[in-house]
Amino acid sequence: MRVLLCNDDGIDAPGLQCLEEVATEFGEVMVVAPSEEQSAMSHAFSLRRPLRAIQRSDHHWAVTGTPADCVYLALKALLSEPPDLILSGVNHGSNLGKDVPYSGTAAAAREGCFGGIPSIAFSLFTEPGGPVRWDTAAHCVRDVLKRFHPGGSIHPDTFLNVNIPNIPIPELRGVKTTELGKRFYEERTERRTDIRGKAYYWIGGPHSHFEGGPDTDGIAVAEGWVSVSPVHTLPTHYPSLSAVRDWTDA
Ligand code: MN
Repeated sequence: MRVLLCNDDGIDAPGLQCLEEVATEFGEVMVVAPSEEQSAMSHAFSLRRPLRAIQRSDHHWAVTGTPADCVYLALKALLSEPPDLILSGVNHGSNLGKDVPYSGTAAAAREGCFGGIPSIAFSLFTEPGGPVRWDTAAHCVRDVLKRFHPGGSIHPDTFLNVNIPNIPIPELRGVKTTELGKRFYEERTERRTDIRGKAYYWIGGPHSHFEGGPDTDGIAVAEGWVSVSPVHTLPTHYPSLSAVRDWTDA
């Protein structure tokens, strides 16, 4: 099996090394990852600047672009044969609920899905300043990959978004299929003044809480489950179609 790896924390990130160690147990690995951190770049695609692909070894490429650029370039230019599976991560930090559309980690998996390849995004539910349990991440990636079969475990218009609890391995409760739930942040902005007297802003804030049932991703991972969510790449809200048609077609 040929496995393509990508991430959004950059090619030197420990989470990608963790993923590579496990993926090597399952097949022949190629890494095509951003040369610099690209967290929260979503599915950004570099149409207005050139990309450089720096080959670091037989199977490592650092690309001066986004996660979506990396997967696109890997599939269309860098790999001699298409991979059987694309893995993204392991992200340093969770990607739960509304994080998914902001996430570069998820975007790499979505781009893989657009390319017709079964794709999985992995993220570790770390907390700021706390320990980072890459051993737990490796254990859970291995567990998910043992269960997953690229030929039949997933619909071709979906990718899998996996979140891993950052807890010791003996405390893990198992693997659970989930839906994306509601995640809330303290939505802070901070206005500062630059050395020329002009205002600038920092945006973002820390996690606040999750809302949803036990089978939503944030609640499940907070309770110690490895959360596996199938994510559709084309997010039409089907229950709304008839209500919208009522006024568009009136
Ligand atoms: Mn990241």
